[in-house]
Amino acid sequence: MKTLKNTISEAESKKVAIGHFNIANIEGLWGIFRAAQSLNVPVIIGVSEGERDFVGIKQAAALVKSIREEFDYPIFINADHTYSFERVKEVVDAGFDAVIFDGAKLPMEENIAITKQCVEYARSVNPEILVEAELGYIGTSSKLLDEVPEGITLDQLTTPEDAKRFVESTGVDLFSPSVGNIHGMLKGVSNPKLNIDRIKEIRESAGVPLVLHGGSGISDDNFTEAIAAGISLIHINTEIRIAYRDAIKKSLEENPDEIAPYRLMKPSVEAIQGVVEKRLRLFSNM
Ligand SMILES: [Zn+2]
Repeated sequence: MKTLKNTISEAESKKVAIGHFNIANIEGLWGIFRAAQSLNVPVIIGVSEGERDFVGIKQAAALVKSIREEFDYPIFINADHTYSFERVKEVVDAGFDAVIFDGAKLPMEENIAITKQCVEYARSVNPEILVEAELGYIGTSSKLLDEVPEGITLDQLTTPEDAKRFVESTGVDLFSPSVGNIHGMLKGVSNPKLNIDRIKEIRESAGVPLVLHGGSGISDDNFTEAIAAGISLIHINTEIRIAYRDAIKKSLEENPDEIAPYRLMKPSVEAIQGVVEKRLRLFSNM
């Protein structure tokens, strides 16, 4: 079985991106896995601190691993936005394939110091695990937004110089910059455009694969340009959450007498699968 690291380098050489999709339950996991399987592309399952507390940290790792083994399939689990060393340690110990330390809100030196501590610990436990870190604040919540959240300044993107210094001083495997992306989706309009030139410059100076967060709401053309410029992993969460919620609402309304959860929830699995399939086709140039 290929490691996540090999899977990412392969994506990079093919000029495609791997999709990262969050789950909070088994419906999400099956919806995402079936979408990836139908297209035969690798996929990463993400769980934020809140999502993994709900699923169970060890349980989330075991679920993804069980699919990887049963189907001999390149599916991996990543601990999405993790805000402290203690919580990074927890997922490293639980056997995750990757973890993100998110110190984007901290002063750069503090962000570097904690990221470095996370990288050292992770490598000491599992040399295969990938550690990602973030530089440049892009907001924190995967929800529908009325406007660009406070604290995000779209004219203050991560600079190639800071990216280089950050990656060199921390030793991270993956880097997530702020390049015009925001978490969440704006209501009724497209999200702001990504700065494609900046992505190219940062990929060159950082020297490691780049991850794009806040992928929900970005236009198809903008994604394609970003991948060509050096994005190898793309995070989608808000779009799946909306599809899931809408499907449950419809299912409950249309089946007022149904009480079997697996029948009521089936449309939500299919809805997630549909959204993920569409995104994976785009990210894989299909
Ligand atoms: Zn994110």
